[in-house]
Amino acid sequence: MDSRFRGNDNIMTRFTITCFCGRKHIKFRSPKNYSAGVIARLYCSSCSKKAPREALIIEVTGLYEYDGRYAITWNPAILAALDPQYRARPRWKEDFFGKRKLIFDFIPPGARGVFRVG
Ligand SMILES: [Zn+2]
Repeated sequence: MDSRFRGNDNIMTRFTITCFCGRKHIKFRSPKNYSAGVIARLYCSSCSKKAPREALIIEVTGLYEYDGRYAITWNPAILAALDPQYRARPRWKEDFFGKRKLIFDFIPPGARGVFRVG
């Protein structure tokens, strides 16, 4: 494995999820060993308008063809396995996405200000 993708002691986990409309196959990476099962459904910039109200919204800007509004619904059973107390945190939906958590692989590791969640 390419050493650029090693964290401190962790090796990145990578997986691909097809969005709700089926047009995009989006790759994720995570140093926390989150599996694809953590995501119940993914919505790309073409289908995020169809995301349910409870979805986490991710706005991507400055990455050209990847720019747009994405949405994720989480799998509660897997979140509970990762962190049994997760619902006690006020921003738990946002807390599972970002650097050192689960992130779109098209967001470069050093990129700043290219996505916003909430
Ligand atoms: Zn889509």
